[in-house]
Amino acid sequence: METKQFQAESKRLLEMMVHSIYSQKEIFLRELISNASDAIDKIYYKALTDDSISFNKDDYYIRMETDKNNRTLTVKDTGIGMTKEELEENLGTIAKSGSLAFKNEVEMKDGQEIIGQFGVGFYSSFMVADKVTVYTRSLHSDEGYKWESDGEEGYTIEPYDKQEVGTEIIIHLKENAEEENFDEYLEEYKLKSIIKKYSDFIRYPIKMEVTEQ
Ligand code: ADP
Ligand code: MG
Repeated sequence: METKQFQAESKRLLEMMVHSIYSQKEIFLRELISNASDAIDKIYYKALTDDSISFNKDDYYIRMETDKNNRTLTVKDTGIGMTKEELEENLGTIAKSGSLAFKNEVEMKDGQEIIGQFGVGFYSSFMVADKVTVYTRSLHSDEGYKWESDGEEGYTIEPYDKQEVGTEIIIHLKENAEEENFDEYLEEYKLKSIIKKYSDFIRYPIKMEVTEQ
């Protein structure tokens, strides 16, 4: 297992997420679903030009699972996945689209406004999670990896035996606090309403599996 430090800008954004008092924390799900959809798009567009990849529509979907005993919410996709290098690059640093705007604005605005204005991406998970685990295998790799972080200093990466190409993101929900009930994100009706509100336009099926205790 390797332990790595987050890049300085990532730490700043993460700190803001971990301690966020932003009321619309549910947007983390919009971000995870949009990343899952982007990852499936990437396979789809590759299949258009690469005969060795067949795109069978039924094989491509986003799936959510909840586990009330372990208080986890999982978002799985059958998208393009990430290599080890991509994991480190994409989840360890902020250099991408939405986050780039964040970098320029961060000095001027207070954190709560920023979360509302920009897609803050993957790191928004840390508004509701005290730990995030990512299992992924790239279309371009025979090896899978596990990435894990508590959103503080850094993250760990280790090889993981994943059979299928794609990515699985496990949100370990924070303990409920006085004003905040993170258990909501284990409820089917709540998840459905968030998806309806923010992800109605996603063009891949979003499946849901709810495990009662
Ligand atoms: P953005 O989507 O604006 O690039 P994010 O913080 O949401 O920023 O995600 C960062 C990057 O991590 C993505 O650009 C993508 O390369 C990678 N990534 C995140 N989630 C997934 C996923 N489910 N499958 C494959 N790659 C992903
Ligand atoms: Mg994104």
